[in-house]
Amino acid sequence: MLVQQILKSKGDAPVITIRKDVPIAEAANLLAERRIGGLIVSKDGKAVQGILSERDIVRSLALRGAVCLKETAADLMTRNPVSCTTDETTDSVLQKMTAGRFRHMPVVDDGVLVGIVTIGDVVKARLEELAMEKDALQGMIMGH
Ligand code: AMP
Repeated sequence: MLVQQILKSKGDAPVITIRKDVPIAEAANLLAERRIGGLIVSKDGKAVQGILSERDIVRSLALRGAVCLKETAADLMTRNPVSCTTDETTDSVLQKMTAGRFRHMPVVDDGVLVGIVTIGDVVKARLEELAMEKDALQGMIMGH
């Protein structure tokens, strides 16, 4: 299965992005409000500058306390995150996520942000694919 199929199944909801100068307290509110775990940092919604995950915020809170809430996305984000393209396979994305130990991946075609996939999206897609393969094999064995 390809990344473009995952994006299609999620609907064409726009990716939520924030600018580098957004305070961490505001970013945390957005994560909670939208019930998501990561925000793409971009100045124009097209070029990906970084990714800010709930983990970045929790780690900073634990290490340095509430002072980090006044800092900005630029201070805590991971710069130049690993991305994928719409024609990449779910297996390839899963491998990159597992190797890099992260759960979010921006989807970028020709330098333009077109979506985001999470490990949950990829695992769901892979399970559906395996269930279909199982049904097809069962059908072949049973002769229908
Ligand atoms: P996550 O598991 O996605 O919540 O993120 C765990 C850590 O990896 C955080 O420090 C993120 O900023 C970072 N991270 C998240 N997504 C990516 C990515 N696609 N490429 C590189 N680092 C990432």
